[in-house]
Amino acid sequence: PRLVIAVDGPSGSGKSSVCRAAATQLGAAYLDTGAMYRAATWYCLDQQVDLDDEDAVALAVEELPLTISTDPQHQTITVGQADISAEIREPRISEKVSEVATNRRARTLLVAAQRRIIDEAGFIVAEGRDITTVVAPDAQVRVLLTASAEARLRRRGAQLGGTQDAEALKRQVLERDKKDSTASNFTEAADGVAVLDSSDLTFEETVNSLIGRVEQ
Ligand code: C5P
Repeated sequence: PRLVIAVDGPSGSGKSSVCRAAATQLGAAYLDTGAMYRAATWYCLDQQVDLDDEDAVALAVEELPLTISTDPQHQTITVGQADISAEIREPRISEKVSEVATNRRARTLLVAAQRRIIDEAGFIVAEGRDITTVVAPDAQVRVLLTASAEARLRRRGAQLGGTQDAEALKRQVLERDKKDSTASNFTEAADGVAVLDSSDLTFEETVNSLIGRVEQ
């Protein structure tokens, strides 16, 4: 039987760690769709595709030889023979990913690939920006995971080891929020989507709240 848990949220909302933990505890598969946009961006840069050239970007995504694991405990993403699991987290990718993510044809292709992965898994936690609305609007559980800007910055700072200049960090997080939200309304809960605000919750409380919605 099909049981899909769709989770959307802005960067730094803790989405990925929360969803991985929830999937592990539920024994479900896990899909990080952001990693797919990052892999597409990695590929465009690798192939020296001009990101301003919409057709070239769409073509690159069309031929993108992508594999992504759905094991919440072993996240591996490859393009061709290259394991790019670590590289897709580099700032050079984060800085450019919105340019690929706003390409309409690239999105159509990646959304189709995501739907195939979800269908194949059946029981899965899938997270991103448009999972509750576009990729899997028919999911049994649809959650928008939010956190205040302060909470997100605090966590992002901790994630980077607290070494980054606070102001630069704030600029980065808010800048990407802006790029993402001008492209589409990724950060507003659509009809029937429950808002889970994690600002004042611990990590465990947030995971439990998500799991609780599945068991209802
Ligand atoms: O979640 P993560 O920060 O890794 O996502 C990277 C980028 O991919 C986002 O900033 C956004 O531009 C894009 N994205 C998207 N739709 C999704 C997931 C991610 O446009 N479903």
